[in-house]
Amino acid sequence: GLDTRSGARAEVIDRPTLQAPGIDSTKYTRGMVAVVGGIMPGAAALASEAAMRAGAGYVLLLSDTLPPNTPHALVCRAWAPDALADARIGAILIGPGLGRDDAVRSKLAVALASDRPLVIDGDALHLLEGRTFHDRRAPTILTPHGGEFVAVFGAWSGSKIEAARAAAATSGAVVVFKGADTVIADPDGSVVVAPHGSSWLSTAGTGDVLAGAVAALAASDSPLARHARAAAAVWMHGAAARRLGSAFLADDLAREISAVRAAL
Ligand code: AMP
Ligand code: MG
Repeated sequence: GLDTRSGARAEVIDRPTLQAPGIDSTKYTRGMVAVVGGIMPGAAALASEAAMRAGAGYVLLLSDTLPPNTPHALVCRAWAPDALADARIGAILIGPGLGRDDAVRSKLAVALASDRPLVIDGDALHLLEGRTFHDRRAPTILTPHGGEFVAVFGAWSGSKIEAARAAAATSGAVVVFKGADTVIADPDGSVVVAPHGSSWLSTAGTGDVLAGAVAALAASDSPLARHARAAAAVWMHGAAARRLGSAFLADDLAREISAVRAAL
């Protein structure tokens, strides 16, 4: 376990075990991720690439525009109210590059009404307005950095572990509370900590990469528990950063997740 300043303890995450695709695997059974983007196409593209690198078989990117040179986003189409109706979608990611205009609220409402695992990051976290997730039929995973955590759950003091544990219990979501130490808390009370990131992760777009990887694991047919899947994504993200060393960019990080995933 890990002692924080307050003495709270949690398991430190270890190298996860992930299976290679089986002989019967298809791009859909490996996991189809729908990324709901908006006004910042680079962020949604980074999340999409990271989802593929982390093992998703297919990404459906819902963004009005896409930067050039993003062939991994095979299908990119504009948002429509029925955009998430495809039964093959294994998980939805909403947040990276989304923006906060009125159109975003209806996208978020459709995503929340879905019975698929749902990862909520970035701008979408600011629109939750106290919404809880106990009623959703599939896991909900929130990936806030410090400022977003305060926006969703209010100010906290003392132990980050206990703050994340309480947030998960109250909201009914898996909470991935990011930062130099990332704490992953499950509504069932399980908490794990990923303390070995890299301070070079403090660059734009790395959170979008993490969100994509979390969505890929949520969509996968892995036997891991919901919070262990999120923890596996956090572990791969940190390991990719350590492999890269210094002064990398978020797109380097996304690419490096393939190398980390291959070595698991
Ligand atoms: P975001 O703030 O959404 O862009 O996400 C940033 C990502 O980089 C998260 O996964 C953080 O945990 C990670 N990160 C940012 N700064 C640091 C740091 N100083 N040390 C370790 N990880 C960091
Ligand atoms: Mg972010």
